[in-house]
Amino acid sequence: MKKADLILTDISYILTMDENLTEYKNADIVIKDGKIIDIGENKKNEYFGKTITGKNKIAIPGLINTHTHAAMTLLRGYGSDNPLKVWLEEYIWPAEGKLVSYEFVKDGTDTAIYEMLRNGITTFVDMYFYEDAVAQSVKESGIRAVLCTGILDFPTPGAKTPDEGLQKTEEFIKQFEKDENVFPAVGPHAPYTCSPQTLKKAFELAEKYDTLYHIHVSETQFEVNDIKERYGNTPVKHLKQLGVLNERVLAAHMVHPTEEEIDIIAENKVKIAHCPESNLKLASGVAPIPKMIEKGIVVGIGTDGTASNDDLDIIGEISTAAKLHKGYNLDPTVLNARQALKMATIEGAKAIRKEDKLGSLETGKNADIVLIDINDPHLQPLFDPYTQIVYSSNGKDVDTVIISGELKVLNKKVLVFDKEHLIEKANYWKNKVLEK
Ligand SMILES: [Zn+2]
Repeated sequence: MKKADLILTDISYILTMDENLTEYKNADIVIKDGKIIDIGENKKNEYFGKTITGKNKIAIPGLINTHTHAAMTLLRGYGSDNPLKVWLEEYIWPAEGKLVSYEFVKDGTDTAIYEMLRNGITTFVDMYFYEDAVAQSVKESGIRAVLCTGILDFPTPGAKTPDEGLQKTEEFIKQFEKDENVFPAVGPHAPYTCSPQTLKKAFELAEKYDTLYHIHVSETQFEVNDIKERYGNTPVKHLKQLGVLNERVLAAHMVHPTEEEIDIIAENKVKIAHCPESNLKLASGVAPIPKMIEKGIVVGIGTDGTASNDDLDIIGEISTAAKLHKGYNLDPTVLNARQALKMATIEGAKAIRKEDKLGSLETGKNADIVLIDINDPHLQPLFDPYTQIVYSSNGKDVDTVIISGELKVLNKKVLVFDKEHLIEKANYWKNKVLEK
């Protein structure tokens, strides 16, 4: 008998999401030093240590949310159902201008992390302001996150100029370069809010420290028209011409690329963060995701901020994606349940260039594991576990969440942050938003 830190036993289904989509039934996962050290049938007989039963559960890798603005949970539901311009100019921007501070970001991110853990998300990508506050929340909770300060050409709550934003980004990168939970990145906001010079400087910084370059691209028709008017090019071609497109680029949205641009994305190995619910709620359009996947482009899934979603449920998000693209393409074979779950796991890991450690349940990888409770009539009968997750369940069916071998959710209870305190804080900030 060998010693283990934690053994998940008798798991009804294990969906490893590895290259061959290997599955196990009534099998075990063995964890030591934060890593998966063994997986398969009858493994529990070879080890001793703390055990948790996986009976009536499906094990999947920790879910990856490839695009969000966590602190915006404090603006959830504010000014909904307005035209994009009205929503931004009369609700979101004034509230942010008035309130965004270290405290706002810390409280908002705590709330977001609580919700993400509850829904089985173990890694997220965040672009906002005061990323030091976000990092603090990440460290306190033990979740993982790619964090970047939004860099824009006009003054932001965190920086008066883009150069100050870049300088803060560099300091942040140096601080967290070797961290196992905080993965610092460079975050130029978008081609329409950053000058060519800012986009290039940001890219140089990402190259220098080998980080992700996270940016919103081709989100709306407005953006496409604006970039055409200013630079005589569509957004992806504009970025290509500036020399800021390669494998480190994680582009959020990509709703309106041309055929030629899809080829450019594929050739340059740019990764996509698909945010279907935000694109639907803000009426931005439908991204040509099946075509991009067909061309071999890595596509992860993202919630975007809750102000335009309005939740942080990745299972709900892949369910929306799978149905949206079937309906839009009049083809029920498009984006099947396996592909949808891949977007939330291994493809998400590839999108953030962490597939060597995250995204699948394999020996040697980080023990970031989610158990979904299937002992509930709404998930029975169960013909196919992938189908059940994508079409019948949602984040609230997540029973257990483990990150680096540590329990973060057990029996559907989040073990980090105090729920009552978070609700109090949310209401404190609601009153601040409403104060004239
Ligand atoms: Zn966004």
